[in-house]
Amino acid sequence: MSDTQGFDTLQVHAGNSGDPATGARQVPIYQTTAFMFKDSDHAARLFNLQEVGNIYSRLTNPTVGALAERITVLEGGVGGICCSSGHAAQIMALFPLMMPGCNVVASTRLYGGTYTQLTQTIKRFGWSSSLVDFDDLDAVKGAIDENTRAIFCESIANPGGYITDLDAIAKIADDAGIPLIVDNTSATPYLCRPFEHGATLIVHSTTKYLTGNGTVTGGAVIDSGKFDWSASDKFPSLSQPESAYHGLNFHEALGPMAFTFHSIAIGLRDLGMTMNPQGAHYTLMGMETLSLRMQKHVANAEKVANWLEADDRVESVTYAGLDSSPYKDRVARICPKGAGALFSFAIKGGYDACVKLVDSVELFSHVANLGDARSLIIHSASTTHRQLSDEQREASGALPNVVRLSIGIEDADDIIADLDQALAKAVG
Ligand SMILES: *Cc1c(COP(=O)(O)O)cnc(C)c1O
Repeated sequence: MSDTQGFDTLQVHAGNSGDPATGARQVPIYQTTAFMFKDSDHAARLFNLQEVGNIYSRLTNPTVGALAERITVLEGGVGGICCSSGHAAQIMALFPLMMPGCNVVASTRLYGGTYTQLTQTIKRFGWSSSLVDFDDLDAVKGAIDENTRAIFCESIANPGGYITDLDAIAKIADDAGIPLIVDNTSATPYLCRPFEHGATLIVHSTTKYLTGNGTVTGGAVIDSGKFDWSASDKFPSLSQPESAYHGLNFHEALGPMAFTFHSIAIGLRDLGMTMNPQGAHYTLMGMETLSLRMQKHVANAEKVANWLEADDRVESVTYAGLDSSPYKDRVARICPKGAGALFSFAIKGGYDACVKLVDSVELFSHVANLGDARSLIIHSASTTHRQLSDEQREASGALPNVVRLSIGIEDADDIIADLDQALAKAVG
């Protein structure tokens, strides 16, 4: 694919120049576990990474590979891999960088599941995290120590009221000689291109807007190819002989593709968080209309957020796309095509009114998901954040009187009418 082609062209064509075996115009679903070696020499070359090819679908599969290439091209990276979910992608991004005793510095503004993964689950690997307010740049710098191996944040942070100053955070990462990993799920490459703001790696939950129709879970890790893994001794798995792959020095042998090959040859091989080809097919189909959907998502979100802000049953709306948002200037710099379609709002009447609201909507679906073509609603305090303490709920914005919306691509007037009738029942 040429770099001169536009986003709308690439979202349809990248990763698919026609099936070489059959001429099929669409990407075939290569529903196979293994691939035939031409002869023993071919097999040896594949296993030695001297030749690129398919061996076994836990490592690579052409349908999954087409999707990885499409996301890589849209993000402007050099290589990428797909995996079974967004949470798998986060582990796959950290895995080549971390060893027991290492830590990641992350934003406090995270998707709920990511918060638990980084603060609890990774401890089992001997990894740890320190979560700080990413608007306090001194706190970010102060949290980095000699065992820090990455900085992690979301571009548009869940639930949408916050835009990370990626340029400022990337500079801190650069000065510390560590990579910046950006979760670009809520923005998608249509709204935000983290590599242009200095990110090293991008992770996605392809489950959300990239697929766009709530059918499959998936994830991706994309590498900018710009990080020098050999500049320090912090990343031995990439820059020194790796015993898990017969002593290969990935950076020396593969240059800018070191991270991607490491992710396939060791990460997918041994952790097995593989995306299946059927799942990749659904996401490839969804991505063909990504820009069209994101334009409608954003236009609808702007209308709905403005309508809510002007309604006196509503206390506040967090959407970064509102003129009243403190992040207005960052939207213009980080995601100029819009602040996404996720936000939360607080209503009068507290917890009970919120429960009544989610029980009264008709067009909205009450589900724990986001980034669907359909409009979705959830009251975090009584669902996803139920197990947290009051303080934890407050820190993550899941206050008792707050409801989160993921605005779909229906008619904005119908979305507003549904909220109007539900608010009438919940607040009066
Ligand atoms: C959904 C989501 C994840 C987790 O992705 P799964 O595909 O559900 O594992 C991570 N980050 C963000 C921002 C998400 O929205």
